[in-house]
Amino acid sequence: MRESTQEKTGFTALIVEDDPIVCDFLQKIVESQGYTAIVCSTGASAVAAFVAGFPQLILLDWVLPDMDGLELSRIFCASERGKYLTILMISGKDSPEDIATAIAAGVNFFMAKPVEKKVLDLWLSAAFKHVRDCLAREEADLALAKIQEELVDNNLQLEEALSRANAMAMEAEQAYIEINQIFKTVAGGILLVDKHFNLLRCNDSFLRMAGVGREKAQNQNCYEIFHSCLCNTDECPLQRIRKGEKRIESEIEREGPDGKTFYYSIISTPFKGPGGDLLGIVEHITDVTERVKAEKALAESERRYKELSLVDELTRLFNKRYFNSHLQLEVERANRHNHPLSLLLLDIDNFKHHNDTYGHADGDRVLARLGRVIADSLRVNDVPCRYGGEEFTIILPETSGEEATVVAERIRSRFAGEIFQPNPGETVRKTVSIGVTQYRAGESEQALLERADQNMYEAKQGGKNRYVLK
Ligand code: GH3
Ligand code: MG
Ligand code: MG
Repeated sequence: MRESTQEKTGFTALIVEDDPIVCDFLQKIVESQGYTAIVCSTGASAVAAFVAGFPQLILLDWVLPDMDGLELSRIFCASERGKYLTILMISGKDSPEDIATAIAAGVNFFMAKPVEKKVLDLWLSAAFKHVRDCLAREEADLALAKIQEELVDNNLQLEEALSRANAMAMEAEQAYIEINQIFKTVAGGILLVDKHFNLLRCNDSFLRMAGVGREKAQNQNCYEIFHSCLCNTDECPLQRIRKGEKRIESEIEREGPDGKTFYYSIISTPFKGPGGDLLGIVEHITDVTERVKAEKALAESERRYKELSLVDELTRLFNKRYFNSHLQLEVERANRHNHPLSLLLLDIDNFKHHNDTYGHADGDRVLARLGRVIADSLRVNDVPCRYGGEEFTIILPETSGEEATVVAERIRSRFAGEIFQPNPGETVRKTVSIGVTQYRAGESEQALLERADQNMYEAKQGGKNRYVLK
């Protein structure tokens, strides 16, 4: 195999010819036409050169030492680039049958030996055009193949996108089924409301609570259907969630269609889109009427129990209700047995000022302490009561007015000795003024009480922190 280059069309011609003289002659002409020439004298070397050199033009002898030129043509045509080759056979076998056989074996052009330069030039010109056409066809085929490849690729991507979309659609459908299931089976009402109060979706329980049909509920605002009571207030769950709250629990009272009162507990949470943006709220509503009614009944019974109770919670002394009933008993007893009976009425001095200065809670501590001082200063039969506010009464059975002043003085001085510390490092003392009086046979409890009050008033007038007996 010989190879030479002499510029150039950019094309390569493979010359397969075992006669060296013909071969040289062919090479020269081919190179003079601008081909790069590869020259082979056998079929085997021609196959190797073909594979290595990618020739566009092949000048082929029929009769070769190792192989039939037609056989070689078939091999070349069957190769990957076979359809883009230009094969010019040069042979002494040139009957029409031979030429037909050669064309059948893939030969494009045929030229009879002996080779005449002018004729060869003509054939080579024709072949050159064929080579160019083949190249253009090959390029077009390649471009087409690339487009096809891209199309296949795009198709693949489209198929993938489609299958992803299908999967998402199935997921969405599944979620839809699950949401429907939740809406149906959840205990209580559930609803979705958008940012503009429009009801987007709700379950049948909610419609029953609201007392409206699905038709009517559609395209309505939540406040028109249900929680009007919360709207236009700072309590509106939607407004609060818009301001950034994450979970709101509220309770509302609502009149049902039959005029009965119902209570509902509402848990509101944000309802967000896939990007985390607020779309509205989800509300879960539970009918808590039974529970609230039970709580109200309990609170009412506690209130009544307290009212009926006889003891004042703060001071642990008897209350006014007990005082009234007990004073009546003692008055009756005193009248029956003609025994002495006395009454003390105490009032804390300047108590309003203490409250105003140190607060009501501290005032309560003063009241509780006075309660203890009184309780610790009495005999078993004496009855100490918190008459109201900062006023106390003490019923002293079997006690004269004079004897009662001893008790009054004991309480006054002990209480005056008590030290209060409303603030760290600050100490305060408090005093009481006491009206003391003895029951006068036949008079009413009211008269007795009024005289004690009058005496207490005189003690105040007299400068406070004292008792007055009359
Ligand atoms: P005076 O010496 O004339 O009795 O003057 P005062 O300020 O004690 O009398 P006033 O009647 O003007 O005020 C009584 C105060 O007692 C006003 C009221 O707030 C307070 N008070 C009544 N009940 C309670 C209570 O249960 N707890 C507390 N902390 N204060 C009470
Ligand atoms: Mg008072
Ligand atoms: Mg007072």
